[in-house]
Amino acid sequence: MPERYDAVVIGAGLGGLTAAALAARAGRRVLVIERNASIGGAATVYRNGALTVEASLHELDGLDPQDPKLPLLQELGLADELAFVAPAELNQVRGGPLDAPFTMPAGLEPALSACRARFPRHERALQRYFDAVLAVRGAASFATAHMDDEAWWLRHLPEAAPRLWPLIRHARATLGDVLRGLFGADEAVKCALAATLPYYHDDPERMLFLAYAVAQGSFIAGGAHYPRGGSRTLTEALAARIREAGGTLLTGREATRLLVDDHRVTAVEHRNRQGGDPRLAAAPLVFGNAAPTVLAAMLPEPWRAAFLAPYARRPVSVSLWTVTLGLSRPPAEVGVEAYSTFLLPAWMTALAD
Ligand SMILES: Cc1cc2nc3c(=O)[nH]c(=O)nc-3n(C[C@H](O)[C@H](O)[C@H](O)COP(=O)(O)OP(=O)(O)OC[C@H]3O[C@@H](n4cnc5c(N)ncnc54)[C@H](O)[C@@H]3O)c2cc1C
Repeated sequence: MPERYDAVVIGAGLGGLTAAALAARAGRRVLVIERNASIGGAATVYRNGALTVEASLHELDGLDPQDPKLPLLQELGLADELAFVAPAELNQVRGGPLDAPFTMPAGLEPALSACRARFPRHERALQRYFDAVLAVRGAASFATAHMDDEAWWLRHLPEAAPRLWPLIRHARATLGDVLRGLFGADEAVKCALAATLPYYHDDPERMLFLAYAVAQGSFIAGGAHYPRGGSRTLTEALAARIREAGGTLLTGREATRLLVDDHRVTAVEHRNRQGGDPRLAAAPLVFGNAAPTVLAAMLPEPWRAAFLAPYARRPVSVSLWTVTLGLSRPPAEVGVEAYSTFLLPAWMTALAD
């Protein structure tokens, strides 16, 4: 007999934990299934000898009043509980077409001033760049704030339409298009502004400007934040919310099969890491925090193609390869000045390289 829940969440990454915590606090009986021995997915901290390693998340963007993450943290009671460290600079970029290191400060005015001081001939284009990025970010935040309220859109359509204009205006432009339109062939200014491109993509000619501007605008407007104590503090706080609300977190259990009835996923089969001890968890609502291809493989064969159809025309995204170096001396002694440093190789003469 399956165990019954109101919601089952596959994967205890930040996405799954947030969905589970919100559902649990809304009174749902929630089960989270995580295949690893620990929770957090990419957002995790581990130890290797004397070294404490933050596996991925090192800069959370925004957390300003326009940030759609902030209401979620507030709803979960985490906005005041978590402490964040905010470096004064977003990043430093060196090498490539830049003749000297460039440091991008956090905050619109300091960032704009630093860019103007370094690239005075682009003074007006820089103003237009920051305006465009922040307009898109503002429009996206506005749209997200009312996302779940259809009645609101019907009542407010005339005033809402102009606020969404930046999204319509740049709907098809790539980052490469926008930077070229503003800065022509000056690749140094492009690399200084968009040094963070590898956070999101590897190709400015394919990266949609909207997607770039939403994230980068959030860094500019709200700064970068590192959870004090590491990303584990964030994931453990989310897990505590789930447990406090009566939810269950299972680690070392892998979701292996999704059962479908009448066009809906109705239950999740999960097993221990050796593939044994199969169990069934039934729920009217299943959140899949695993990658779409992983989830598709769990579906009965006839449903796989339909599930993957929305992703069919998307190229496979970039893959990350990371090396973690522990230094025995303070990083400043080997020339690291900023919290985040982007090193562009000498052969890189253009952002697209
Ligand atoms: C190197 C690196 C640096 C990054 N830096 C930043 C940063 O500075 N700032 C920022 O905002 N973001 C950063 N990110 C991105 C951010 O960490 C991720 O976007 C976010 O943590 C992903 O969360 P998620 O829940 O979507 O997925 P994941 O963290 O991948 O979680 C998915 C979970 O599902 C589990 N799972 C998968 N299949 C199954 C199954 N069959 N059964 C049970 N469990 C399953 C996995 O074990 C995993 O725990 C970085 C990412 C990387 C890799």
